[in-house]
Amino acid sequence: MIAVYPGSFDPITSGHLDIIVRASKLYESLIVVVAQNGSKVPAFSVEERVMLLEKTVASEELKNVKVACFSSGLLVDYTDNLGAGVIVRGLRAVSDFEYEFQRALTNRHLRPSIETVFLMTSAEHLFLSSSIVKELARLQGRIDGLVPAAITDDVRAKFLVQSE
Ligand code: ADP
Repeated sequence: MIAVYPGSFDPITSGHLDIIVRASKLYESLIVVVAQNGSKVPAFSVEERVMLLEKTVASEELKNVKVACFSSGLLVDYTDNLGAGVIVRGLRAVSDFEYEFQRALTNRHLRPSIETVFLMTSAEHLFLSSSIVKELARLQGRIDGLVPAAITDDVRAKFLVQSE
C-alpha cells in the first residue's frame, strides 16, 4: 500500500519527521507531498521546502520515502493518480482536531476509497510547529532539535539573510 503525507512543511520540523519515520514503517511506500495551502503565506518556496525534505529523508532508513509537490486541484485526485490509498496526517493536541476532522470527512465525501489515517504526535513534539520554528529562527533563537539535524543550518541561514 502506498500512502501520502501532505502538508505545508514550511519548514519540516522534528514533529513531521517523527510522523514520516513511523508512517514509513507502516506502508510499502510513503510519498511526502508539499501542498500549497491557499490560506498560509509560506516563508520557504515550494522548491526550498522540497529540498529540505529531500535532505531530511536521504537516509538508508527512509529509502521507501519519496518527496513530491502538488499545487492545484484536489488532494484526493492527486492521491489517486499516485496509486495511493491512504492519506497520513499527524495529530497534536486538541487544536488540530477540528480542522483535521473536517478535512478528513470532506476527503471521504469526495473519495470514499481513500482513508485518512492519523498518527498521534510523540509527547516531545506536542507543542512543536513550523510557526514556532520560524518565530525562533527569526529572533536567532536556538532551533537545534526542533528541526531535523540535516537542515538546521539551512533554516538558520534563511532567516539570517532575511534579517540583514
Ligand atoms: P498543513 O498546512 O497541511 O496543516 P503542516 O506542515 O502544518 O501542514 O502539517 C502537516 C501535518 O503534520 C498535519 O497533519 C499536522 O497536524 C502534522 N504535524 C505538524 N506538526 C506536528 C507535530 N509536531 N507532531 C505531529 N504532527 C504534526
